[in-house]
Amino acid sequence: MLIVCSHCHATNRIPEGRKASEGQCGKCKQTIWQGKPVDLSESQFAKYTSKNDMPVVVDFWASWCGPCKAMAPAYAQVAEQMKDQALFAKVNTENAQQLGSQLNIRSIPTLAVFRNGKEVDRIAGALPANQLQQWIQQALSKMP
Ligand SMILES: [Zn+2]
Repeated sequence: MLIVCSHCHATNRIPEGRKASEGQCGKCKQTIWQGKPVDLSESQFAKYTSKNDMPVVVDFWASWCGPCKAMAPAYAQVAEQMKDQALFAKVNTENAQQLGSQLNIRSIPTLAVFRNGKEVDRIAGALPANQLQQWIQQALSKMP
């Protein structure tokens, strides 16, 4: 299983039966994935969503967006709870306007789930932690 390090973005191979959250990065020696949403820049986005062999949940947000900020603790909580099922990332759309228009992000917060670089599902609007988790579960269940 290939997992991109959430710190240095090096691609690591995780042996079968091991979890990304238990793996140490061969390059920077930090835990590859700690269940804390990873801030992705526009240039890091493509690699992180396409080179990971785990689904990637992305929160598209902006600093001026009240509902985005209100949802951040719930998102962090769900990321920790679901860290062995998916990777979680955040994209600040103010710093990634090209990406936002490329993906046709019309309102924020928007949550989207990617698998092998392809978008599987998305939802717009803030959700409380339990609904967030339910929505992510159903999105993951659509994957082969
Ligand atoms: Zn690393």
